[in-house]
Order: sequence, then structure tokens, then C-alpha cells
Amino acid sequence: MRPPVTDFITREAQFGAQNYAPLGVVLSRGEGVWVWDTDGNRYLDCLSAYSAVNQGHCHPKILAAMVEQAGRLTLTSRAFHNDQLAPFYEELAALTGSHKVLPMNSGAEAVESAIKSVRKWGYEVKGVPDGEAEIIVCADNFHGRTLAIVGFSTDPATRAHFGPFAPGFRIIPFGDAKALQDAITPNTVAFLVEPIQGEAGVVIPPAGYFTHVRELCTRNDVMLILDEIQTGLGRTGKLLAEQHEGIEADVTLLGKALSGGFYPVSAVLSNNEVLGTLKPGQHGSTFGGNPLACAVARAALRVLVGEGMIENAATEGARFLDGLQSIRANTVREVRGRGLMLAVELHPEAGPARRYCEALRESGILAKDTHDHTIRIAPPLVITHDQVDWALERIDAALKRDFS
Ligand SMILES: *Cc1c(COP(=O)(O)O)cnc(C)c1O
Repeated sequence: MRPPVTDFITREAQFGAQNYAPLGVVLSRGEGVWVWDTDGNRYLDCLSAYSAVNQGHCHPKILAAMVEQAGRLTLTSRAFHNDQLAPFYEELAALTGSHKVLPMNSGAEAVESAIKSVRKWGYEVKGVPDGEAEIIVCADNFHGRTLAIVGFSTDPATRAHFGPFAPGFRIIPFGDAKALQDAITPNTVAFLVEPIQGEAGVVIPPAGYFTHVRELCTRNDVMLILDEIQTGLGRTGKLLAEQHEGIEADVTLLGKALSGGFYPVSAVLSNNEVLGTLKPGQHGSTFGGNPLACAVARAALRVLVGEGMIENAATEGARFLDGLQSIRANTVREVRGRGLMLAVELHPEAGPARRYCEALRESGILAKDTHDHTIRIAPPLVITHDQVDWALERIDAALKRDFS
């Protein structure tokens, strides 16, 4: 007999650190856009593990690559070469137009690695006095949970009582190129920014912002680091979100969907200059670049491109956005989105977004509230026309729900 759902939830609370507040659903299976709970109820996944499963749950080709590689060779450490790393580098570099790749595991590790690399570049190439490098970041950023990163967060819950923090970061408003111009000093080595702020509630900067940012960074010899861990790999309807403004970052960070959700794989991509400053022994990771990760990532990239998922994100994203915008509910303050990175912001009087997510769950959709009043909607990129319409019907009803 299957244990009741409450049993999983109580045991999680009893034995685990309670650093999350999940919806009351216990999942045990996934396929494509769908997930099933332990009672056999089916849901359309509109979170996609924060965009890590862009390719859909348990994609058969990624699964096959993983199983095949797992039976052959999983981990060698970087003390030796392995036969998956070179093709992974080559394929990822070709796809993204990068010169060099640094493989890591989690997104936060990619961010940390980029911070280390641009600082080193600043001292060794730009000529910044040792220990004085500055990195500019944006208010309401989300770049992960390690200490250096939470130290430059502006979210109190993220920072409180975790200090002391690393110095060397300056915070400016997001979407304000003038603020960037004013914050740059001779010691500025990089500007680290998300193309669209995901965790902040899918905040899209004004048109032209990144063109201006690119110019400022080039003119001042400042490395532009785009954190595309969430926006990248098709989520916004382009391979990389930078393509919406036709710019190129100096350093690009990927994670999440780089493995299609099978395994933690992240990467720092750069020109020769930045990653070129790292010499043997100066940075590393036991699992970074392991053959299993490389094989999984290669398959994840292959299906993303080969099965038209990026184009699908653009078409179905436009349909989804259009549908959300035509919902006439007085709970809705604003609908935002690009590709399949969508959000519905509620009026504060509508009450917490969480209860709308609970209502969505009852109707077969899993979505996650962010920052109290915003519902984020980001299904796998394999979603079909009919599934978008199916979701829209249910979202429409949930947003009109009377909780009084
Ligand atoms: C998720 C995320 C990260 C952190 O990735 P982890 O794998 O959770 O460490 C960093 N930046 C952005 C934009 C993200 O969405």
C-alpha cells in the first residue's frame, strides 16, 4: 500500500531543513509537460523546476544518453582527460559562439567562477590594483545562494544573518543604463546582470537597455556577464536572451536546462581573455566536466535544438502571453513575458499569489508564486497549442476565483 501524501510531507518536515515551503503535492513521475503525484493525479508543470526541465520531464533521448554513459564511465576527475569533455566543449562553444568553456555543476558555482575569473582578468589584463576590483550588480537580482552571491542580494530574507559578506560589489537599479554609467570606476571589472529578472517576478528591462549596457561596458573595458541560467537555452524563444537585442556578452552563464533537469550541469562561457587567465591549480571542481554530465548536457542541447524547442517557445509563448493578456479579471495588475517565461502580477488587494497557485493546483496546474503577488508561468518548451489553451482556461478560472 502506498503511504498517504501527508506522511511524505510530515516526514520531510521532521527530518529535513525547512528552507522551502512547497505546495502540498508529492510528485512521483514526470513525462513531457506533465507530472503525476503519488495518488495518480496529473498536473501540467508550469514551473519546469525553475526552467531546468525546458526539454520536458524525462526526455527519452537525454535519458538514453544518461543511462548509456552511466554504464560506461561516470567520473574521472579532471586529473585525467575523458572522452566526453572535448565534444561537450566543442558543441557548446559552436552553438553559443563562445571561445572557451568552464564546466561546473550548479548555477551558483558558475556565478562564483565568473566572479573569480573576471577579478583575475581585472588584475592581470586590465591592470586594476590588487584587491580593488569592483563588480556592479542589480537590485532585486537572483544569482544563487552561496555566500558571495547572497552578500550582494537586496532581498532581506536571502541575506539576513548570513554575514559577514565579501566586499567588492556595487548595486544599481535594474533597467537603468544611466545608473550603470555613473557606477563605473577605473576599478570596475564587470557588470553582472540577468537579461530578464526571473526570481524578481519576470522583470523585463526597457527596450534598448542592453544595447546601451553593451556600449558602456565596451567603452569602459568592463566585462558584461549575462546570467542566462534561467533565461538561456530557449526559455525566452531564443537560444540566449541576449539575442533579443542582438548583443553579445563577454561572459555567459548557463545552468539549469543545460542538462534538461537530469543532473546538475553549469558552465561559464567566455572569450579567450577572461577564462584564459585561469591556469592549472587556480580553480576546479571534482564533478565539473565529468563524463556523465557532459554526455547528458550534449544530449540536452541536441534535443533542444534538433526538436525545434526554441522556435516552439517563441510561438507558444506568444500564444500564451496573448491569452493571459486577454483574461479580464480584476485581480490582475499586469501580465509580462517573453517566450515561455511568463508572469501574472496580481493587485495587492487580490491577496497572496499563493492561494491562486493552490487553486491552480486543484485544477491540474502547478505554478509557483514569487514575491507574494506574482504567479510565474514557465512550462516546458515542448508544450503544444492545445495544452496552452487547456492551461489558459484553468488560469482564467483561477484568477476569477472568489476567496471571500
Ligand atoms: C537558478 C538560478 C541561479 C542559481 O542556480 P543553482 O543551480 O540553483 O545554483 C543563478 N542565476 C539565475 C538567474 C537562476 O535562475
